[in-house]
Amino acid sequence: MLCPVTQLDPVLAVLLASSAAAFVAALGVVPQALMGRLATPVLGWGNALASGLMLGVAYSLTTVQPDGEVLMGAGGAVVGMLFVRITHVFSGVEDLDLNELGELDPAYGYQLFVVNTLHAAYEGVAIGVAMIVSLPFGLAMAVALAVHNIPEAMIFTAVLRERGVKVLHAAVLAVATNLNQVLLAVVTYSVLAALPVLRPWALGFAFGSLVYLVLDELLPESYRQAGHTSIALVTLVAMGIVVALGGGIM
Ligand SMILES: [Zn+2]
Repeated sequence: MLCPVTQLDPVLAVLLASSAAAFVAALGVVPQALMGRLATPVLGWGNALASGLMLGVAYSLTTVQPDGEVLMGAGGAVVGMLFVRITHVFSGVEDLDLNELGELDPAYGYQLFVVNTLHAAYEGVAIGVAMIVSLPFGLAMAVALAVHNIPEAMIFTAVLRERGVKVLHAAVLAVATNLNQVLLAVVTYSVLAALPVLRPWALGFAFGSLVYLVLDELLPESYRQAGHTSIALVTLVAMGIVVALGGGIM
């Protein structure tokens, strides 16, 4: 029997998967809408869940790097980390606390939108490069990143709600920050399809940028929001689930 996934036009598959991942972010507003102001540990666990899923995707990308291309992958990882650092510095959002519910600086809302938008761009690259490896592998990684968009959007929309943004508008903004995930996924896939020589570098770039984002943006705050042990556990379990369920798909 023919697999319906492999029958899809590859670029259309990338577009559909990354679009679904972006729109799922709207669900992030649900916990806050149902329960009101979220307790600080919930924000920490949300960060840990998102971190674990991102690390699972990053690790899975290293497992599909051909043996002879490891050095190029390592070079790509360094470029990815530098790229995140440089884009943070040039957009003025380096070391920004992403979970500041009480922050009243008018610029904070704009900075939060910028940092979440930049963050999503690197995840778009990861979806695009995973799709180049194979469509089933790419879809597994897109599902992991779609699920991770929910806790990230939960934290983003919790901050927006504290600043008086309506539920519907917060949900729309959460999706908006992820729209460039779609753009970057399609562009990455198309460029790598045309220039296969860049694939090992792109795999490394996605790995380096995802790991750096976790270590620089998500985990530092989470340790202050919830207990160290619970943060480590949630992160590792989420990572393990991605590696166990998605990493073996080729
Ligand atoms: Zn993320």
